[in-house]
Amino acid sequence: MISRANVVVVGSGGLGAAAAYYLAKRGGLTVALLDKHDIGSQTSPRAAGMVSCMRKGDLMIKLIKDACRKIETFTAETGQPLDWVHSGSLKIARRLQDAEVLNGDLNRGRRMGLDVEEISPDEANRLNPFLKASGVVAALRIGDDRYFDPAQVAVGFARGAQAKGAILLPKTDVTEVSITAGQVTGVQTSNGPIKASVVVDAAGAWTRQVAETSGIRVPLVPTRQQLIITEPLDGLRADLPMVRIMDAAVYARPCQGGLLWGVYEEDPCFFDTQSLGPHFDIKDMPLDIKVLRNAAEDVKAQLPILQMAKVREFRGGIPTMTADGHHIVGPAPAVKGFFFASGCNVAGLSISPAIGEALATWIVDGNPPLDLSAMALARFTDKPWSEEMLKRDAAWQYRHFYGAA
Ligand SMILES: Cc1cc2nc3c(=O)[nH]c(=O)nc-3n(C[C@H](O)[C@H](O)[C@H](O)COP(=O)(O)OP(=O)(O)OC[C@H]3O[C@@H](n4cnc5c(N)ncnc54)[C@H](O)[C@@H]3O)c2cc1C
Repeated sequence: MISRANVVVVGSGGLGAAAAYYLAKRGGLTVALLDKHDIGSQTSPRAAGMVSCMRKGDLMIKLIKDACRKIETFTAETGQPLDWVHSGSLKIARRLQDAEVLNGDLNRGRRMGLDVEEISPDEANRLNPFLKASGVVAALRIGDDRYFDPAQVAVGFARGAQAKGAILLPKTDVTEVSITAGQVTGVQTSNGPIKASVVVDAAGAWTRQVAETSGIRVPLVPTRQQLIITEPLDGLRADLPMVRIMDAAVYARPCQGGLLWGVYEEDPCFFDTQSLGPHFDIKDMPLDIKVLRNAAEDVKAQLPILQMAKVREFRGGIPTMTADGHHIVGPAPAVKGFFFASGCNVAGLSISPAIGEALATWIVDGNPPLDLSAMALARFTDKPWSEEMLKRDAAWQYRHFYGAA
């Protein structure tokens, strides 16, 4: 155990581990990466590992393009393995109103330099024969999209950070962020205090709990997300484009000879991590396969294989949703040295390389490398919010992740 660091990062999921890596890379800082569980063991390794470049706004597209470059150079950069496949993806509209949204995506994608084109339903079926053209009104091919092994990202960044001098402290529960006269002074942990003038709250589903130990309220909701991996399927190639069906909010991608698929359900399951108790581990999260059975029924005309394929693995995790669908990244208003890397909106792993580096620059240089005010916690402090409003808006953002009208 150490007693002092320059920066303490709380939480070693994709976001915290990436921040720790880029902080350690800057050199000259003692960076401690703490986790109450094992390193990188909670929601991050349970993700789908899909990288979606078609986002609703320019900022997210800029960041995800940067993340794509960093995924390509991950092993050269960190010295750690990362298996990734540049498969591209197909975004599917089944309703005219969603076809209009796709048209907007096409224009934004072109303006932002993405490899996007509208293709016919038959062409979409030719590119990925598991996707049937029946009921497809419009399809967008997004050439930049890719997927990776989610289990390698957080652990890879953490090990890379360690190689650059960061200290990894697993099984170390942060019980309080200490603040004196508006300045962070350190953390209290289950293994003793650590003095530090900068603390990054990257505690994923526990972000609120960590912040509330020092009286800061963070409007995000821990939200269940589940997926299935099927047994291997005849004709399933690793480079088949991923599929996203907009109004059903169903996604599928190749995985170990089978399909990995999931859904952003209509009525999401929210958690209060406080009530789950101090020993809760993500692997104990209650799962509900009915949600996926209903989703498979919803898309049976386009992805009939989802009803037929045998389930090899069924898993889930607890990402966090915000009311406006943007992450929460950057400093806490009015507390010097308190930073956030959270509010992942079920897309935090893919963007973690870009957010991690941007946050490290913000902490070390005093400014982010690009305007991240849309992600600042301060955006919520001007207007009143209640738990009911937060859950209502977060549920809408969740179900409409693919921009369905
Ligand atoms: C089924 C599923 C599919 C998904 N698909 C995708 C996808 O395709 N693409 C994508 O980009 N994202 C996807 N996601 C979302 C992605 O998993 C998250 O955005 C990302 O993993 C969030 O990382 P994190 O670092 O915020 O959280 P976590 O990985 O949960 O890490 C937080 C860490 O903080 C630690 N911690 C908490 N409290 C404390 C404390 N008091 N003291 C010390 N440590 C603490 C925890 O133990 C944990 O290890 C998916 C998620 C799920 C569940």
